[in-house]
Amino acid sequence: VLRYAHRAAAYRNFSSHPPEKERTLIVVKPDGVQRRLVGRIVQRFEQRGFKLVGLKLLQVSEDLLAQHYQQLRSKPFYPDLVQYMTSGPVVVMAWEGHQVIQSSRKMVGHTNPAEAQAGTVRGDFSLHVSRNVVHASDSPEGALRELQLWFQGQELLNWDCVDQFITCE
Ligand code: ADP
Repeated sequence: VLRYAHRAAAYRNFSSHPPEKERTLIVVKPDGVQRRLVGRIVQRFEQRGFKLVGLKLLQVSEDLLAQHYQQLRSKPFYPDLVQYMTSGPVVVMAWEGHQVIQSSRKMVGHTNPAEAQAGTVRGDFSLHVSRNVVHASDSPEGALRELQLWFQGQELLNWDCVDQFITCE
């Protein structure tokens, strides 16, 4: 028994890079909702092992969008971006897990779908940079700022596996 206890302890401490409880913002943009891609996008994040800690469907206001894309306001495509992003509801999600910010950028793929790898959301589901299906925060500072912008504090939940009859992770 002692030997197994020892092994379990060794296993728990095995990694020199223990998992972090990082969080990121993922948005299924209006084209993704219209094309019924929400389920398949959620599935990719669940399958990877990330934990859903916030989720809602909403119609974005121009004001929120202006804050979200504050660094793009002077770009020539900005008016079209606002029109696109406010053209229908979006699904806003907060995902948690080890290095979720970096991993989800990889899963989402290059901004321009033509340069996005096959196997990424944009590489598999989109054609044009102006209709690229999904948003993912690009840095820890960006993720924190965007989560605070899109979610009220109480909308983000901490949860753990509570049912002995199912396997949660
Ligand atoms: P990302 O979404 O990959 O972080 P950016 O922050 O550079 O990329 O751009 C934000 C969004 O603005 C893109 O996802 C895309 O919807 C839109 N966008 C970026 N560049 C262009 C462009 N050249 N023409 C039209 N839309 C663009």
